[in-house]
Amino acid sequence: MCGIVGYIGKKEAYPVIVKGLQRLEYRGYDSAGVALLNGDLNIYKKKGKVVDLHEFAKDKDLSSTVGIGHTRWATHGEPNDVNAHPHTSQSGKLAMIHNGIIENYAALKTDLLKKGYSFQSDTDSEVFINFIEDIYINTDVDLAEAVRLALTKVVGAYAIAIISLDDPTLMIAARKGSPLVVGIGKDEFFLASDATPIIEYTNEVVYLDDQEIAIIKDNSLTIKNIEDVELKPYIQTVDMELEAIEKGGYDHFMLKEIFEQPKSIGDCLRGRLKSNEGKLVLGGINDYVNKIMNADRILIVACGTSWHAGLVAEYIFEEFCRIPVEVEYASEFRYRNPVVSEKDVVIAISQSGETADTLAAISLAKSRGATILGVCNVVGSSIARATHAGSYTHAGPEIGVASTKAFTAQISVLTMMALMIAQKKGTLSERDYHNLLVELESIPDKVAKALDLNAQIEYISEIYKDATNFLYLGRGYNFPVALEGALKLKEISYIHAEGYPAAEMKHGPIALIDENMPVVFIATHDSSYEKIVSNIQEVKARKGQVIAIVSEGDTEIPKMADHVIEVPHTHDALMPLIAVIPQQLLSYHIAVMRGCNVDQPRNLAKSVTVE
Ligand code: GLU
Repeated sequence: MCGIVGYIGKKEAYPVIVKGLQRLEYRGYDSAGVALLNGDLNIYKKKGKVVDLHEFAKDKDLSSTVGIGHTRWATHGEPNDVNAHPHTSQSGKLAMIHNGIIENYAALKTDLLKKGYSFQSDTDSEVFINFIEDIYINTDVDLAEAVRLALTKVVGAYAIAIISLDDPTLMIAARKGSPLVVGIGKDEFFLASDATPIIEYTNEVVYLDDQEIAIIKDNSLTIKNIEDVELKPYIQTVDMELEAIEKGGYDHFMLKEIFEQPKSIGDCLRGRLKSNEGKLVLGGINDYVNKIMNADRILIVACGTSWHAGLVAEYIFEEFCRIPVEVEYASEFRYRNPVVSEKDVVIAISQSGETADTLAAISLAKSRGATILGVCNVVGSSIARATHAGSYTHAGPEIGVASTKAFTAQISVLTMMALMIAQKKGTLSERDYHNLLVELESIPDKVAKALDLNAQIEYISEIYKDATNFLYLGRGYNFPVALEGALKLKEISYIHAEGYPAAEMKHGPIALIDENMPVVFIATHDSSYEKIVSNIQEVKARKGQVIAIVSEGDTEIPKMADHVIEVPHTHDALMPLIAVIPQQLLSYHIAVMRGCNVDQPRNLAKSVTVE
């Protein structure tokens, strides 16, 4: 899940690469390295963050107009200087950066060892570059062809970039399963895992497709596929502002992204929803509305926070559309033998659109004839391209590793989908439909009000920052919110937390409750309000510390809870969009107070492109 950057042109390559790697650090940050050509092949690698690499490299020879760089999320071999990328071939002439996993690396390594190759690192990537070199040396072909031949033999996922001491005018890149973008400037080319390292220099890009190879040679770009067929590059213009990928005065990307939600939800709704005209259009799925309406079942596949958005969507689709819904962990779905037919509609949710498990689930469901819709944030991503249709969340780049604004945008899109289907299907009365449109349109303002609670939540965070466990409880629509609150806390503060349906508490977790256990209740005024009030009583009777997220004006719960966070009220189905805000802020403040690296939590990477 690493980030990769390449530059070939007239500028100094190193600053472009290092800045680019910093933008991609959300993808992995256990070690980093660069390879620079200037008559020699200079390689600098360091365990740690990109800043550690820079500290190490800054006094070295960095002059070069051709280079590649990598920020790693280790899969094979511990994070250390040697396993960091770039890796070189045995001759010392080729350098490669690699994002992904070569699954047959052990067999390739055995063959190469027999041929006399030796290896410095424990990585699959070093095997990969030597495999290429072996073909290059022993076959009468140029390097690009050697790469192509090697790609026909490797199994697994890769985005790679290769440079060679023999030819400083050459850079070769290829992808399968891991993303790769080529930026086209004036007399210069860029490579990167996403467009963020590139947009400062050019907005003309080519998103490589799976099994495509880009050959940049003598200042021109050729794209071919692995079958050796030359392809016309499809040049797209990226529409991304530089400010969108910078912190804009906030201490962390996560905080900026939490506070961006009134805007990101607004952007997601814009042009699609106009309650005064009764208008709701998701252009991306227009042609599939009949198919969805008549589906036997909707299957939602996703991972992590996106899976929680999927759970919210399950409740919404079932209630409004009367279509049965199942929500699956993509990683489980793909490894069993699920019953899927052409009457099923699959919705795949992923912020990055690159989640490897979700991609694999899509291809399984596709092979069984299902219709696949995507809900992604990153335009042009692999999932966006692998699905039959879909809707983007338009939340803007999300850089903090813990997802916040992508979650609320995913729910917004899924709600619009469900309402569109329900209206066409006639399973929702005109009055309810209209009320829901009005409510949905008011969500950005209500989220803004919820954000005004920041100071109160910071105060509560101070009280509970040293807790070792947390419980999150909610019912109905607020149950997935409880799961998401617990996940957010775990991810960035490393406090153990569990989310449960509040009614399940008495079947087990209640045993955990004592005076040291903070319990976050999402207890807004919905159809199960009375029941959750009883659950709060049960926790208080056992001396648990209750932090309750309630609807504005609640008079009941303040009598029993230790802390009450009052959020604006809305329709039950839309409450997750508001109730999640205090939870995001709570986990953020606790993590900051505990000295954790909020934007780059340990062991995590944002875009999980390995299975
Ligand atoms: N498999 C490679 C490694 O462990 C690349 C991992 C990545 O994508 O960062 O070095």
